Amino acid sequence: MNSSIGNLLQLQRDHPVTRIVYVNGRYLPYAQAGVHAEDRGFQFADAVYEVCEVKGGRLVDETRHMQRLARSLAELAIPQPMAAGAWSRVLRETIRRNRVRDGMLYLQVSRGAGPRSFTFPSPKTAQTVVCLARSVSPHAQEAAAEAGIAVTTTQDLRWGRCDIKTVMLLPAALAKEAARAEGAKEAWLVDDAGYVTEGAASNAWIVDGQGRLITRQIDNAILRGVTRTTLVDVLKREAIELVERPFTVAEVKAAREAFITSATNTVMPVVRIDGHSIGNGVPGLLTQRLRAEFHGSAELSDP
Ligand code: PLP
Repeated sequence: MNSSIGNLLQLQRDHPVTRIVYVNGRYLPYAQAGVHAEDRGFQFADAVYEVCEVKGGRLVDETRHMQRLARSLAELAIPQPMAAGAWSRVLRETIRRNRVRDGMLYLQVSRGAGPRSFTFPSPKTAQTVVCLARSVSPHAQEAAAEAGIAVTTTQDLRWGRCDIKTVMLLPAALAKEAARAEGAKEAWLVDDAGYVTEGAASNAWIVDGQGRLITRQIDNAILRGVTRTTLVDVLKREAIELVERPFTVAEVKAAREAFITSATNTVMPVVRIDGHSIGNGVPGLLTQRLRAEFHGSAELSDP
């Protein structure tokens, strides 16, 4: 048996609930959930994905995630693999079969499989669709939020279309691994002009010395986070001013508060950057308030 299959079988044995993965119309046991060796997602990172939070068995901000998926597909001219109603059923069934109450749902669509060629395959090629769901302990997340996380900075090595949520995640994986080696949970990526673009898998925010909330404006250098968009709704509701502009690492070090946003973290306080404490070195008050208010503005889907 090859060792990666062995690892997967061990993973399956370690999980009391058998994990089920949706692959191209079928719900398969975890260890058997494979795609073709010549899948374009595997060979060219020619694929897009979404990650949604699952809360109480329901999807958070499903509409916005599916809108962003549609945009990512359209930007890369990958046809939609299924209609909205079919997507809705697949997402719910994957959550149900994996008995996820709190956790995350991952979906991926690649342009499909075919003999390796840089140019696109025939338009008749079926897209590859994968959907997984996994439980995440809400207690562990709350404990992390109470302590706050550390981040490290690293050069942003990614391409010019970071607005598209592709699986081309090697620079993000390298940045996260470097952060982990320093005991940090996230990496903040810095562009050639010295500005923070975003986290490796999150959007980046600070509260400056005057109490102004700042995050980078939407452009091709960052992903328009669904959590970011919903948090902007919270800010409008609460009449909290937001300044959308790039900020430097020096500004982060001088900031009163900092946090990241992502579907799996919602609003997560950042208390250290490259070993320097931010503010008092504990989660900031505005950050905590926004974390507490986030789900009040997020959409919770029907089960
Ligand atoms: N930016 C990047 C590069 C990401 O990978 C992610 C999420 O994975 C985000 C931002 C946050 O997006 P969302 O709030 O939709 O999870």
